Amino acid sequence: MKTGYLIDMDGVIYRENHLIPGVPEFIQALIATGAPFLFLTNNSAPTPEDLAVRLKHLGMHGLYARHFYTSAMNTADFLCETDPGCTAFVIGEGGLLTALHERKIANDAIEPRYVVVGEGSTTMDRLTKAHECIERGARLLATNPDNWCPVSSTKTRPGAGATAAFLEASTGRRAYYLGKPNGYMFHRARRKLAELALGEPEQVVMIGDTMETDIRGAFEAGMQSYLVLSGSTQFEDVGDYVYQPTRVLRTVAELTDEVHTGKPPDLRGDRAAASSGFRSSKAGLRHQTDILALHKPRPRPAMTK
Ligand SMILES: [Mg+2]
Repeated sequence: MKTGYLIDMDGVIYRENHLIPGVPEFIQALIATGAPFLFLTNNSAPTPEDLAVRLKHLGMHGLYARHFYTSAMNTADFLCETDPGCTAFVIGEGGLLTALHERKIANDAIEPRYVVVGEGSTTMDRLTKAHECIERGARLLATNPDNWCPVSSTKTRPGAGATAAFLEASTGRRAYYLGKPNGYMFHRARRKLAELALGEPEQVVMIGDTMETDIRGAFEAGMQSYLVLSGSTQFEDVGDYVYQPTRVLRTVAELTDEVHTGKPPDLRGDRAAASSGFRSSKAGLRHQTDILALHKPRPRPAMTK
């Protein structure tokens, strides 16, 4: 069976500035066997070219811009498909500006059709301008719903979801969130994977470390989902969620042999673990996105390592 892989980056491929052990062998196995794969990230700040260079500096060769699909590209695809020729006031960085530019979405600080919020730094002046645009009728879009993003094992930074929440609070308007877990992200990623593979893979697997984005989105898109424990999720937290991954792995290194052999995995053990091994371990969740609970307090996330 031809399997295509959608692979999250932070917490799956690297943490901070280090590749996770076994990743180079896994990626080389994908390349050597011709298995279609695409890196899928909610980080809308870098361009695909930036990401290829970043991985090269970490020691991962053989990757090109075509191997990456970001929430910024997803947002640009969304606007291009639903409202071609529209204009936008953008709070975001190079990856988002480039993606919109490539889709012919013009910048407009006077009377834009959309305010688009992405990852990265901004100023109160830019937020005020965005607020005014929304008051004049612009619709609010965010590249992804992450309220916070990991920086290191002891540090996080505010994400695009937090910036969008600021504007939701000031304008009383709700944002529409692209990126994972939005089904449109998975729909377009699957299409791009099919283009890369010159045909639709028989099955598509999402590999990720975050339950609310990677695993939830894959489940809702009808894909297999493999949770890796090398990032933001601890094994004992999996039971907190109503949706469950198809498999749980320590790292992607566990997949290298089966990519080489092409043998389908025996999932009996994993399924047994998924159905009986996970129990909610604590009251209260600290979800990274929390998009449906804006009225609730937003506690700081637990530091995972
Ligand atoms: Mg991740």
